[in-house]
Amino acid sequence: MAKPEYDVIVVGAGFGGSSCAGLLAKRGLKVLLLDKNSRAGGKAVTLSKKGFTHTPWVIISAPVVGSLLEVVLKELGVESKVKLVSPSNPDSVYRTPSGKYVSMPQMPPGGMNPDVLFDWLGLKKEEREEALKLFTELIAMSPQDIDTLHDISLQQWLSRYNAPRPLYSFFVSLMCDGMFVIPVDALAASEAVRTIQDMILRSGGLFCQGGIGRVAEAYAEAVESNGSKVIMRSRVKKITVEKGRVTGVVTEKGSFKAPIVISNAGIQPTVLKLVGEEHFDQGYVNYVKELVPSMGFMGARYFLSKKVTDAAYGVIFSNETPWSLERFIKAKSGDFPKEFVVYYECPTNYDPHAAPRGKHILMTGFWCPADPQMTAAQKKKWWDKGEEIIFKVFPNMPKYIEAKEGYSTREVSALARDQVLPGQGGECIGIGQIVGQCAKYKPSPKSPIQGLFYVGTDAGGYGVGVHQAVDSGINVANMVYRYHQMHKSLK
Ligand SMILES: Cc1cc2nc3c(=O)[nH]c(=O)nc-3n(C[C@H](O)[C@H](O)[C@H](O)COP(=O)(O)OP(=O)(O)OC[C@H]3O[C@@H](n4cnc5c(N)ncnc54)[C@H](O)[C@@H]3O)c2cc1C
Repeated sequence: MAKPEYDVIVVGAGFGGSSCAGLLAKRGLKVLLLDKNSRAGGKAVTLSKKGFTHTPWVIISAPVVGSLLEVVLKELGVESKVKLVSPSNPDSVYRTPSGKYVSMPQMPPGGMNPDVLFDWLGLKKEEREEALKLFTELIAMSPQDIDTLHDISLQQWLSRYNAPRPLYSFFVSLMCDGMFVIPVDALAASEAVRTIQDMILRSGGLFCQGGIGRVAEAYAEAVESNGSKVIMRSRVKKITVEKGRVTGVVTEKGSFKAPIVISNAGIQPTVLKLVGEEHFDQGYVNYVKELVPSMGFMGARYFLSKKVTDAAYGVIFSNETPWSLERFIKAKSGDFPKEFVVYYECPTNYDPHAAPRGKHILMTGFWCPADPQMTAAQKKKWWDKGEEIIFKVFPNMPKYIEAKEGYSTREVSALARDQVLPGQGGECIGIGQIVGQCAKYKPSPKSPIQGLFYVGTDAGGYGVGVHQAVDSGINVANMVYRYHQMHKSLK
């Protein structure tokens, strides 16, 4: 039999796929990286149009200190190709119970002062002792103690404290709702506590000039500069399997052979569509079908003639905004909340080349169902509410809008993973942060089929969105490299 042309084929050049492919190519494996899109980056791809170049929607990467995005750029020797920035000008806004929108005061560089935080959130004197206990115990929790929290939700863990509601909202709405896009009563406490520690101790808010997608593009460029191959605009139609072993892929641009395939296309689309249920035992198929993804995220890009804020990004929240399962199910079925948490990002406030001179961009983002088939009427309800909230904080904004583009889970799914199950496809993150699907229960990056692995936010990593995808890219590259070498040693 002819020797396969490649050691490894990576399906998908999102942050997980491109970092994994780059690292394996750098270590000398012959890699083929394939993606259906024209640019690497997946859900966090850079958009370029009519002189505007920016992140597609609100993407706030964290942590800043010790970011794995940077670690991989350095390992691949491509750090000079991108300019990461960590703007010091966020502006998160808390709506007080009396209806006033109050900006977060400046925190000391590289840290968060609880007194300043408690003043901003209007905590009463008698509430501060318990608030400080929660804050310090959370930050000081050891990895061993965090490991005892896999089976409970963040909500259950927080209920051990008599947390004042504004502090509860700060942890849930400002931090976790955006980082995980999973209701507080379904979010695994272990993942949440570990990631909140990262955010507080290692800071949040990492961006890239030219859009965060430039980072994934640099990883993909490193695949080619290390003698491997990248083919964009090539949708993989099938991952081929013979006698329980992966043999390669079929794409729109031909078939390719390799003994290892790593899929960044999502565990559910990979098993149920690209490989096909018939190649797995029924128990594994049932397990994959039962996995629940994160919620979706939608919003709008506003192109402005004048800036409405100097902030690079921020979160608008109140005591009423934390999402719970019940609140989300109600909203989805039409019982819409008066208020929800809104995230915003202004690429023109950290990247002078994001827009033509004198033009400004402000993007909003908020939760929605993950279903890419939301109807126009359903989407309008979510968009209108998001707009109502952003206009309350920036009342002059309507005057300066020159153009507006709504985005929804349909666009997210088109850039990332296919819909193969009802209500799935447009998820913001992936599978692995829900109680029962997280930490030791997280799907294994190794599938039951010989030579088939998963990479990205479904398996192999932890943390926030793109950072989690890169963590998975690093871990899966190590796993696959070892697998490749061990099998080579048998031949
Ligand atoms: C609206 C929104 C806001 C977000 N905000 C944040 C944020 O603030 N901070 C943060 O860190 N993260 C954020 N995220 C999440 C983050 O973008 C994702 O978690 C991360 O980018 C996922 O990376 P991934 O490697 O798992 O895969 P994906 O990005 O899903 O990439 C998968 C890749 O596989 C390719 N692919 C799929 N099927 C095929 C096929 N059949 N053939 C060929 N190629 C295929 C796709 O084209 C894509 O390039 C946000 C996401 C969204 C949608």
